[in-house]
Amino acid sequence: ETLPELHPQMYFKSSLTALSHAMEDQILAGGNSNTLPPLIIASFQKERFYRQEAHRYKRLAQISDQVYVLAAPETSFISSSDIYEKIAFDPEDSLSQEWHLVIIGEHYSSCLICRERQNSPKKLEASILDNSRRFEGIWTFDRKVTQTAASIILNRILIYRPDLAKKITQAQKRYLNREITINKERETEITQIDPFIQRLVTYLQASQYKLLKANRFLAAKENKERLLNSIIDSIRRSLDPEEILQIAVQKLGEGLGVCRCVVYRCRENDTSTQIYHEFKNKDIISIKGKIWPLGDNPLFQEVKALRDVLSIEDTSTDPRIQNYNNPDYPENSVQNLVKSCSIFSWLMIPLLYQDRLLGMMELHHCGPEPASWKPEDLALVNAIATQIAVALIQAEAYANLEDLNQQLEALDRTRSNLVAITGHELRTPLSTIQICLESLASEPDMSPELRQIMLNTALQDAERMRKLVQDFLTLSQLESGRVDWNPEALSLAECVELSLSHLRARLRTQELPHITNKVTCDLPLVEADGEWLVEVLAKLLDNACKFTATQGEVTIAVSIYNPQTLEVTVSDTGRGIEPNRLEKVFDRFYQEEGALRRSVGGTGLGLAICRQIVNTWGGEIWAQSSGKNQGSQFHFTLPISEVILSNNNSQSPKKTKTQKKQKTTNL
Ligand code: ADP
Repeated sequence: ETLPELHPQMYFKSSLTALSHAMEDQILAGGNSNTLPPLIIASFQKERFYRQEAHRYKRLAQISDQVYVLAAPETSFISSSDIYEKIAFDPEDSLSQEWHLVIIGEHYSSCLICRERQNSPKKLEASILDNSRRFEGIWTFDRKVTQTAASIILNRILIYRPDLAKKITQAQKRYLNREITINKERETEITQIDPFIQRLVTYLQASQYKLLKANRFLAAKENKERLLNSIIDSIRRSLDPEEILQIAVQKLGEGLGVCRCVVYRCRENDTSTQIYHEFKNKDIISIKGKIWPLGDNPLFQEVKALRDVLSIEDTSTDPRIQNYNNPDYPENSVQNLVKSCSIFSWLMIPLLYQDRLLGMMELHHCGPEPASWKPEDLALVNAIATQIAVALIQAEAYANLEDLNQQLEALDRTRSNLVAITGHELRTPLSTIQICLESLASEPDMSPELRQIMLNTALQDAERMRKLVQDFLTLSQLESGRVDWNPEALSLAECVELSLSHLRARLRTQELPHITNKVTCDLPLVEADGEWLVEVLAKLLDNACKFTATQGEVTIAVSIYNPQTLEVTVSDTGRGIEPNRLEKVFDRFYQEEGALRRSVGGTGLGLAICRQIVNTWGGEIWAQSSGKNQGSQFHFTLPISEVILSNNNSQSPKKTKTQKKQKTTNL
């Protein structure tokens, strides 16, 4: 209004910041070479804008005693006279819509007088939109305009700070009324503009450069995030560990543009592994299928110990590789590995889940120059490694779940089988028992012989039912894993003796085939749970006797299967098994004849129980037979205990739990 010939221009906030900084820099750069210290008036819309610039005003106050800073208070900004004058204006004052910077020196004057446009996104000032706020105003070097602006603002300051009347009058005299060598001044001002503009350009360039750098950084970050997301997305779609590893290796290799990327599963103490999942560039040698050393690899050992990424920029100078010497491997397998796989730079990232090592991811750069992995690359591969670990654990959990489901299904089948069996197996003996007992009760005149027959039949069938229920419970327990295993070093000969005495005690009324025991006491001890081992032996011997005529022969023998394992064989000369039934006999409830036609007792669960037991010590059980009436052989393996039985020592090894227990049973 005071100077109607001026036409305001539109400025963005960032331009105003640049202009005001450049104006201030002009003073700061000039030091106090001016004979007349400059008048500086800065009016900020809000205290928070002032706070960002306060440090500059502290420096400006060292150059001039005429520095006035105005702002609408928000927290601690109050009117005060400190190193410079602070004027807290009423937030309702129109100044809170404005932004002014007025500088008048002896040879230099400039001002920035602005008002924010109403449609500026004021509410979003803290956000990124802050920089798009717009102002209308004047920026000029014109001394007359600057003086007018200074005069108006000084008068406004007087309203808020009447205590400054003296200082303001001094300022008015010094800068507004004095005709400062006006003729020469114009010239000087023009020459001042050039360095000013240069400074402004430098400032803008610097900002531009910063912006560019920030943009580049953001773009790179976005790319990496996109890569990470696409890897996560792909591996989360699969519950197959092999597929997860292949997707990860492929995407990571492509995304990072490395020469070679491999990923493998491994555990802490693995000595080696095989490479199945690899990504490689066109001209790089493939290492798929290669046996990869772990135990004898100092780098793997270091990653395992530190549980962190290991980055080697130049393998040819790295002391961990070059100085590594293993007397067992004079060829130094790591140096060979580096050579044969042309690994120049090497990055190893452990796949960890809750501190459990699940595997390793390796990036190989094959030269000719070494690759230095940037912290953001490391962060990315680390994030991917974490995701792969989670995906692997999920896949494992899923597999376990499937396993559990299968177990549940098996249990369910067993349950259904029980229902079916109840019909056939339990009802028959139960009916017999009922008829026998009813006859005994209703016919008091029955002869003692017949009475005895009735009683024996009822007792036999009750025993058959008891066995069936017991075997069924044992198998259920074994299948559901609800069994306590107490492996210990045992003498096999003693266990065989125990099972034979069981057999004789149980079948003492029947005539048995001839049994030959070839198991001697000079064998190494075996590692097993005694009770269950005796159960397996008893069941096999029981079957051999059951299916062999009394004139036949049953033999129990043992041989060395391998240095850590014994093989026990129970053979008979009995009715034999058809070749196509050799595996089937281990099925639950498998019996060659139906329940009703069976001449010998049995539940059809004995061999299924044996297989479950043998599997718990990692052994195998199988049947052999040349066919019908050719006899059968049942074999199973047993681990040899690390406690070696001394041949010189005539004393038997320490009494086992099995023996102690057996004593009680016999009593
Ligand atoms: P069972 O209680 O019926 O003996 P098993 O599971 O022990 O149940 O055996 C299953 C079936 O395998 C038997 O019913 C029989 O047909 C066959 N079998 C087992 N052992 C022998 C053997 N030594 N000779 C011939 N057949 C056998």
